[in-house]
Amino acid sequence: MAETLDIGDPPIRVLIKKSARARRFSLRISNVDGAVSLTMPKRAALRDAVAFAQDHDGWMRKHLGKRPDQIVPTFGGSILLDGVDVPITLGTGRKVQFEAGVLYVPGTGAQVPAKLRAFYKTLARDRLAEASERYAGLVGRRFSRITLRDTRSRWGSCTSDGNLMYSWRLIMAPRAVQDYVAAHEVCHLVEMNHSDAYWRQVAAVFPDYKAQRSWLKRNGQQLHRYQF
Ligand SMILES: [Zn+2]
Repeated sequence: MAETLDIGDPPIRVLIKKSARARRFSLRISNVDGAVSLTMPKRAALRDAVAFAQDHDGWMRKHLGKRPDQIVPTFGGSILLDGVDVPITLGTGRKVQFEAGVLYVPGTGAQVPAKLRAFYKTLARDRLAEASERYAGLVGRRFSRITLRDTRSRWGSCTSDGNLMYSWRLIMAPRAVQDYVAAHEVCHLVEMNHSDAYWRQVAAVFPDYKAQRSWLKRNGQQLHRYQF
């Protein structure tokens, strides 16, 4: 069960993680989504955890302040699609359309985030399913099914029974990055680990993987700035 503390004003939500191995209190801010967690020794008192977090109120605010600002997609604004910042304009009809580098969204301004989210999810599914098929063909394996989610800590995963999961936010990354994540997960159908043999398999089907991997490390958190 997740326990949380609200520290300071305005409150910062801190997730408590009790650990049998921890010898002291430590705070961590995720650079993916800015979530704050406090690891504490299992037997330590919660009031000491509160005091520790309060002592670090300034530290938390300073580091949270460094995170990129959140963006709510809106008319007149822009959003990443395939790694390109594209303008969002009022469209006609019922569906979101992407034409000549512009996203046309019908409806009211308040509907823009939800409509773009649905559009992105569908596009991401098509794209990542196609890429997964392609790489599965190259490694000579089959996968079971594909699930799209809005995950915070990982861009994709592959289970031992061959189910692939991807973050639909990848549709905002360059296409080569989308391809890399598909190749990465599909190669786990061959090697369920990150051994040297695994990375050799990745290199065999996706030679340029290091560049795309480092793009994700450097820019991945930008994809979490958007609030849908
Ligand atoms: Zn992996």
